Amino acid sequence: MMGLYDRALETLDGERLAALQWSRVRRLAQSIFPANPFIARKWRAAGVGAAGDLRGWRDFARLPLTTKQELADDQAAHPPFGTNLTFPLVRYVRVHQTSGTTGAPLRWLDTQESWDWWARCWGFVFRGAGLGPEDRVFFPFSFGLFVGFWAGFEGARALGALAIPGGGQDSAQRLAAIEGLGATAICCTPSYALHLGEVARERGVDLATLPVRATVHAGEPGAGIPAVRARLEALWGARAYDHAGMTEMGAYGFECAAQSGLHVNESEFIAEVLDPRTGAPADDGELVLSNLGREGSPLVRYRTGDRVRIERGTCACGRTFRRLAGGILGRVDDMLVVRGVNVFPSAIEGIVRRFPAVAEFLIEVYRRGELDEVRLLVEATADAPAVAGSVQEAVRVDLGIRVEVVPVAPQTLPRYELKARRLVRLP
Ligand SMILES: [Zn+2]
Repeated sequence: MMGLYDRALETLDGERLAALQWSRVRRLAQSIFPANPFIARKWRAAGVGAAGDLRGWRDFARLPLTTKQELADDQAAHPPFGTNLTFPLVRYVRVHQTSGTTGAPLRWLDTQESWDWWARCWGFVFRGAGLGPEDRVFFPFSFGLFVGFWAGFEGARALGALAIPGGGQDSAQRLAAIEGLGATAICCTPSYALHLGEVARERGVDLATLPVRATVHAGEPGAGIPAVRARLEALWGARAYDHAGMTEMGAYGFECAAQSGLHVNESEFIAEVLDPRTGAPADDGELVLSNLGREGSPLVRYRTGDRVRIERGTCACGRTFRRLAGGILGRVDDMLVVRGVNVFPSAIEGIVRRFPAVAEFLIEVYRRGELDEVRLLVEATADAPAVAGSVQEAVRVDLGIRVEVVPVAPQTLPRYELKARRLVRLP
């Protein structure tokens, strides 16, 4: 089994992995409970009197869940960084914030140790995608406060690869940099990789002739949707790998060469899947994560709001880390009910992306009486009315609902460098 980032960890059997996680939980609890006001307040309210009260997984499962809203409220009450801090401010070296896709951005601090930890977590991601020191990884991203690609950039360096920043450039300049510097991998959102592909096509550049052999996608789900992946791989002539991470949590999920779901890096994170209504463990439900190596700003039992399904069985790559089938399936609260049918926006995307002529799309949701109705705007490169008709028929066949599909003129829908927002609720 060549090519794993940390073979000893990635192939631990279930029992030894659980033992490793537990020793990390105990050490973390001893550090954060006495020193971190946010953790201490929450755990005390739940009846924890000392870190030593945590004696096993049953106690862990009784620790309170944390929501993003709680973190936002805490930061609003104690600006600018809130109280989820284990050390004095002088110990922190990096600040980032969430993209603000859902609500006000959260600010997040890292110590030197936790920033190194981030980079190491990305090592698993890049190695999962088959990358190593010989690779040149291009980041077509305007480096700002959003953490995603900063951490990936550090991860590429930690792996020994060449990290190439692509900030302050437009798409054409980025394509020229990829070609000129011989990038073998790019790391960006799936939406932006599709957009770069569009620009390349307009300029007569055949991406498949570039040396890029892997594209690693973060920041939004998509690369885990088969139709999106097929499109990315055809466009770039490269393997497309999904990755999942969160500013406030870390880089927790990665794909391997088998590309059969997202492995959760269980040496650094504890993943639980809970029924979002009852809180009971489930195979299909909300992903609840705890990180084990971010002592300065930890999250224990954090409700990600992401809907996932646990894949049973071993992976062809030899890793024992559990997998999330199909990656992140959507937001728990994004589910639409259209005439009695449960519909996730990711299911619609999975259909739309099967049509190569669709360059971009937007899902509009509006109310008709008490019911959700969906209208789909599609931007096609050719023969828009016929394409719209085909999409409508595919949605009807696959999802069992009839939705209005409206063709729109080229370049009228927004393009995204960061997180795409393809679902709009109309008043
Ligand atoms: Zn695998």
